Amino acid sequence: MSLQNPVFIPGPTNIPEALRKACDMPTIDHRSAAFGKVFRPALEGVKRILKTATGEVFLFPSTGTGGWEAAITNTLSPGDTVLAARFGMFSHRWIDMCQRHGLKVQIIETPWGQGAPLAAIEAALRADTGHSIKAVLATHNETATGVRSDIAGIRRAMDAAGHPAMLFVDGVSSIASMPFEMDGWGVDIAVTGSQKGFMLPAGLAIVGVSRKALDAMESATLPRTFFDFRDMARTYAAGGYPYTPAVGLIAGLARSVEMLEDEGMEAVFARHHRLAEGVRRAVAAWGMRPCAATPDLFSDTVTAVVVPEGCNGTDLVKLAADKYGMAFGVGLGEVAGKVFRIGHLGMLTDVMVLSGLATAEMCMADLGWNVRLGSGVAAAQDWFRGSVPALAMAAE
Ligand SMILES: *Cc1c(COP(=O)(O)O)cnc(C)c1O
Repeated sequence: MSLQNPVFIPGPTNIPEALRKACDMPTIDHRSAAFGKVFRPALEGVKRILKTATGEVFLFPSTGTGGWEAAITNTLSPGDTVLAARFGMFSHRWIDMCQRHGLKVQIIETPWGQGAPLAAIEAALRADTGHSIKAVLATHNETATGVRSDIAGIRRAMDAAGHPAMLFVDGVSSIASMPFEMDGWGVDIAVTGSQKGFMLPAGLAIVGVSRKALDAMESATLPRTFFDFRDMARTYAAGGYPYTPAVGLIAGLARSVEMLEDEGMEAVFARHHRLAEGVRRAVAAWGMRPCAATPDLFSDTVTAVVVPEGCNGTDLVKLAADKYGMAFGVGLGEVAGKVFRIGHLGMLTDVMVLSGLATAEMCMADLGWNVRLGSGVAAAQDWFRGSVPALAMAAE
């Protein structure tokens, strides 16, 4: 018998049975009309999830990191300046990638646990009177700290400064789980992957591109071949693909969008908020707090739990894996050991979340932490009992 607990890492997420089946398909000839039947619904579906009517979507056999690379190499030239705040491992890695590509990165160092600093971004753009900043990079949901940034606010800051830079957003751990408005927020490139909110295996970089970014592509000179949007756009127009597509994953993506839309995107976002709130109530009952500094920054997809002085979050993650076969996320970079992370995105219910909280408590007790068994679970139970959506009640 194969026994398998759900995972509570913030990606890759649990894969619904229906999506495993959707990915499992016989080989088709991707140069035949059969491919279009799989491909078109996936592209159109992703556009609806990103909320873009005017942008294009490109799907690369890659991961979110490849999506970052596609964003910068298609639109920028060596020596260009980009503006980015660094407040966690993922914002850091995108900055590092830009530097390795020969871009100048104007970095706004921001404490981990904070989000994108709107006033500092606006000030930096106002000071850039020569418009040397070509793009602003923003991590919508910093998965290392469980911090959600205000992307609409960044757009407002850019507009207030009257700055023409493009806005590139890493939405890898937010898109399809938390509200995202590509057109509404004036996002020029939105990046995600298949293995988080879309609940699929890893293997696709999903990239939304605005008209403005497509225009920038024509004069950008950073080297790119595999990730070249121009090859994608040209072959998509002819119903094809520049190389061998990950057909199974693309079929899974179309099915994923269908599942999300069947639930209803507002209901998906509300479910993530409810689950996150249950986790946060448990954290408070343990006498701990999220790494995110203030409630407006709380992520609905991942909570980085700050552990008490003298405790090590990585010990909990290791014990949970070794003793109980359950996966939580370790602290990364500056917060290594100081936090452990509970991922609460994708295919999860309140009942599943309770199992994760209960396991975390068993680990805390095993490690001798000063936490009473059941305290966090009870707080989450109280919240879930009182917040069951009307639809679920009616179905009883
Ligand atoms: C997971 C993640 C990434 C990296 O994506 P990969 O698919 O692992 O390359 C980037 N940014 C954020 C915010 C993430 O959560």
